[in-house]
Amino acid sequence: MNVFVTGGAGYIGSVCVSELCNAGHQVTVLDNLSEGHRSAVDPRAQFVQLDLEDRDRVAEAVKTSQAEAVIHFAAYALVGESMTNPSKYFRNNVGNAINLADAAVAAGVRKFVFSSTCATYGPPDKIPMDEGLPQRPINPYGESKLMFEKVLRWYHELHGLEFVAFRYFNAAGASPEFGEHHRIETHLIPLVLQVALGKRSHIDILGSDYPTPDGTCIRDYIHITDLAQAHIQALRPGICGYFNLGNGEGFSVREVVAACEKVTGIKIPFQDRPRRAGDPPRLVASAQKAIQELGWKPQYPRIEEIIRTAWAWHQRHPNGYLD
Ligand code: UDP
Repeated sequence: MNVFVTGGAGYIGSVCVSELCNAGHQVTVLDNLSEGHRSAVDPRAQFVQLDLEDRDRVAEAVKTSQAEAVIHFAAYALVGESMTNPSKYFRNNVGNAINLADAAVAAGVRKFVFSSTCATYGPPDKIPMDEGLPQRPINPYGESKLMFEKVLRWYHELHGLEFVAFRYFNAAGASPEFGEHHRIETHLIPLVLQVALGKRSHIDILGSDYPTPDGTCIRDYIHITDLAQAHIQALRPGICGYFNLGNGEGFSVREVVAACEKVTGIKIPFQDRPRRAGDPPRLVASAQKAIQELGWKPQYPRIEEIIRTAWAWHQRHPNGYLD
């Protein structure tokens, strides 16, 4: 298929583009390189540097690519930042995403695959979390993704645009070629690995008074290659709706730090710090729907294996894509 991928120079997008190319798809990547890296774009893909704000050019790019499917990764994705700058999140993650959805409808695109998030649920009433839970986000990041899920539901109903909204839990790990490099890193695993590389003195544990067994937040970490494979499955005609993507197992911040120590063989100093605004205490997926309806099967269910792939990439690229 001809697949138009926004955010294909970013962390999850870069791995998905590479997997799409491996599967024989023709890929066009749109990215404004605000967070992404040009060298993270698989050389087999076409590249267009463009901001989704540029409505007319986006429409033209989608049309020119003869896209049959759009996969939309490009978005802001930091919970903490969304609590201090909500406008940035609503303008880009909702407003600019509508430019892309309109371009897709105008170009006759059949399938729209959207990177949503478990942050659309807010603190859940039950664990593991399935897709039927009420969505009550507690940060503008989650709210912005929920708003665009609703846009897609209406575009499906009114324009016949088939969509898949993947609610990711915590993306982690690396492929041999592509890994996680944010210009300002705020994510737990890469920060801990920076400590292991000697680039950072310690890790701050952001909240140790949560209602969890060790007082730190629990998250469900899912390997990016597994995430990428789900997107490829979603391109099949007839697949439509909302799907959680996670491993079904939760790890606390302290457990992740301990797993990183085990994988790297390096002691990780830490300091207990106050909570970060907007963080729910515990998010763990039930991905049964994706497993049953997509035939999706995670290949990296173990946290140590996920961290091992990230550690291999960071050791090879201590300065990320700046090497
Ligand atoms: N976290 C932490 N120290 C850090 C970065 C993150 O304790 O330096 C915690 C954060 O509060 C959350 C978990 O690690 O509970 C995962 O955070 P991350 O930013 O990696 O992903 P998020 O769950 O926000 O998408």
